[in-house]
Amino acid sequence: MTKKFRAMVVSEAEGKYVRRIEERSTDDLPAGEVLIRVHYSSLNYKDALSATGNRGVTRRYPHTPGIDAAGIVEESSAAEIAVGSQVICTSYDLGMNTAGGFGQYIRVPAAWVVPLPDGLTLRESMIYGTAGLTAALCLHRLQQAGIAPDQGDVVVTGATGGVGSIAVGLLARAGYRVVAATGKTQEREFLEKLGAVEIVGRDAVDDTSGKPLLSPRWAAAVDTVGGNILSTLLRSLKPAGAVACCGLVASPELHTNVYPFILRNVSLLGVDSVTVPSMALRRAMWSKLATEWKLPTLDTIAREVPLERLDPEIDRILQGAQKGRVVVNLL
Ligand code: NDP
Repeated sequence: MTKKFRAMVVSEAEGKYVRRIEERSTDDLPAGEVLIRVHYSSLNYKDALSATGNRGVTRRYPHTPGIDAAGIVEESSAAEIAVGSQVICTSYDLGMNTAGGFGQYIRVPAAWVVPLPDGLTLRESMIYGTAGLTAALCLHRLQQAGIAPDQGDVVVTGATGGVGSIAVGLLARAGYRVVAATGKTQEREFLEKLGAVEIVGRDAVDDTSGKPLLSPRWAAAVDTVGGNILSTLLRSLKPAGAVACCGLVASPELHTNVYPFILRNVSLLGVDSVTVPSMALRRAMWSKLATEWKLPTLDTIAREVPLERLDPEIDRILQGAQKGRVVVNLL
């Protein structure tokens, strides 16, 4: 049955990208086995790129961004996904070239759908969203690489951002001594509540000496910014340390040398929440986020906005000025 709903639609007009809230119909949505009434979505950096015409993220406009959605299944032709069940859908092509979570309905392939794990509400799942899944994958990669809490400090860059703030919280919850590197050192209280024991400015992880190796300082790092900061982290890891690299807000470039690898055994670990190696791992990460890794302060890292007030938040995330997460209420 056709349903009308509200969605943010980004259109191109004379080389400019305009965002409007429009009425859409479920007939406009792509084919797929599962129709979901979206209750909550969330804002990620990638959504802001899609909402401003970044063709590396979204090739075709008009388009509804939103790489995250959580809601209730209204129609399903997949035996394993029941009508009425609560589900999460993040990544794959959602919000990129498939109409995304900044609309009240999405239609997606069954293979993209994760059942909401026990221990999370739909709203909580979107406080995490792709940012939380990515932070969880970073922690998982570091644990797999053998990084244990007794090996020393773990630094998180872009620490007040979406991925960064959740990474600080998850690492602290898993027993690591977490140092938050941030451009917003005034946000000490926010970061300490998440579990950071030390706050440093961005310059502390942005070496300009050009030295091939720096004093070994970090057992590990979660890097959301890339560029010279990632290069600095690699050169200042302790022997057998590792960086989980997941972002590029500063730069996609990486200039480095082989010394950290051949003289200190360090590892550079890539993390991609879109191509998570298996659905089993994706579900395992959501399950951990709902149980042993669940942040006691989850509610305090999010602000909630209705679809109509999302527009300025998109500009704010592009300026690197967001703190924590923005949840979008589509009820
Ligand atoms: P946010 O904007 O919420 O966080 C980014 C944070 O980085 C900012 O809050 C700021 O934190 C810091 N920052 C911003 N600009 C700069 C700069 N020029 N130099 C250094 N630090 C800067 O974004 P998200 O958390 O949503 O995403 C972070 C990155 O991770 C993005 O590049 C995104 O594309 C990537 N990402 C990757 C995923 C994957 O699967 N690999 C999934 C999700 C995100 P502070 O002021 O505290 O320093």
